[in-house]
Amino acid sequence: MRFPLALTAKIAGHIIKHKLRRTPKFAMVLQLEPLHTCNLTCTGCGRIREYSTSLKDMVPLEKCLEAAQECEAPMVSICGGEPLIYPKIEELVDGILRQGRIVYVCTNGMFMRKKMRDYLASIYSPALEPKLQRLLDEKLIADKEAESIRKAGDDARARTVIRPTSWMYWNVHIDGLEYTHDLIVEREGVFKECVEAIKMAKILGYQVATNTTVYKGTEAQEIEEMFKYFSWLGVDGHTISPGYDYDAAKKDMVKRLAKKPEDFFLTRRMTREKFARVQDWGRLFTIFGTPVYQEFLAGKRELTCTAWAIPTYNVKGWKAPCYLMTDGHYAGYHEMLREVKWENYGVVDGKARDSRCENCMVHCGYDPSGALGTNYQRGDNWKNIKYNFSARPKPYARGHEVKAFNGASIGKGHLAEAKAAINSTTTNSNGACGSGDTRQRDDLLAKLADKKEV
Ligand code: SF4
Ligand code: SF4
Repeated sequence: MRFPLALTAKIAGHIIKHKLRRTPKFAMVLQLEPLHTCNLTCTGCGRIREYSTSLKDMVPLEKCLEAAQECEAPMVSICGGEPLIYPKIEELVDGILRQGRIVYVCTNGMFMRKKMRDYLASIYSPALEPKLQRLLDEKLIADKEAESIRKAGDDARARTVIRPTSWMYWNVHIDGLEYTHDLIVEREGVFKECVEAIKMAKILGYQVATNTTVYKGTEAQEIEEMFKYFSWLGVDGHTISPGYDYDAAKKDMVKRLAKKPEDFFLTRRMTREKFARVQDWGRLFTIFGTPVYQEFLAGKRELTCTAWAIPTYNVKGWKAPCYLMTDGHYAGYHEMLREVKWENYGVVDGKARDSRCENCMVHCGYDPSGALGTNYQRGDNWKNIKYNFSARPKPYARGHEVKAFNGASIGKGHLAEAKAAINSTTTNSNGACGSGDTRQRDDLLAKLADKKEV
């Protein structure tokens, strides 16, 4: 199975319960942002800019747990900002697991190894030595770190830690192979750290997914190579979504500069071109999401946005209408469901109800539509069941042949050019963490394309 049976049953049970009750709108995944602080400053990141005045604010632990209970989503994606900076992240993960929900910790990967060392320290006994030795042999921990794991005192043992369970995934943000990824996150070495963290997580028995946003400047071929590489590393699944630009200035820029929208933005047509092979990727790799959403991405059908099914809760409250756009924040999930005029958003039969939605095909707006049977076509349920229950694709056997470390590479300054390019691009951005505004990234990738050696 692509997704563990207990988790599939949890989600299916949730949908069936609400269908039987005829609940018109309900949550499938909660995007929980306990804070917006981040250790990185990715090009075009909307979160650290949109919430720049509240970067120091955090949602108290109890409020986070209440939000999950309030919306009753069976899955909670803890994102941010960088959620591993949240001081009570261990208690948060633990609390949501205790509520019986599936947890995704969406991270840029930089603190994962530290959190896994805390876990090792909390369970250390001599029986753990073979595993420690393997981590040392593969240079995933240093001698000094192994020593402090061995010498961990009662405090470390009593601490709440993030431990491996089939109900939790590390969801690591990866936007390409080394060159592209480090460029986008604006720091050399981040891709390497993510790879090392993923290797360590797999040795320790954690479930790991990767989370990729495809931009205008991202080659589809590179995405496929990236899947091969991470599948070979034993990653359990991949989430993939198109980035897009809904910037309100689009029309003005087009008008003033007399440029075609496709010169600037990832349009629906471009998204469909980039995702032309998404169904093949779904057969070859463990791509999370429904085959119906994949058909939508490949341009084979239309779907209606169901943004209310993936609500976002953060320091300002329930963000509406969706993860990407902010027209307001509400105190309660049900209040948001009642107050927002959902019929004013999305694209129906190719027509945008809101011009900002025109080119949006993102996962958080449309993947639930595939699972909930919006725009149902005969055979959809069977397709979804077959996809989830069929055998999980085997790890890609020749992933070691992928030139994943294609940066100049670490420590050799391959980002110098990128930094200069960044300084000359606009800093106005309304996109979201890991998705949304594509303009800065696209600019950057275009400026550096000729130097890229993929
Ligand atoms: S995209 Fe995510 S990792 Fe990057 S700066 Fe924004 S919050 Fe941090
Ligand atoms: S179509 Fe996209 S931008 Fe518009 S409301 Fe839905 S998810 Fe948000």
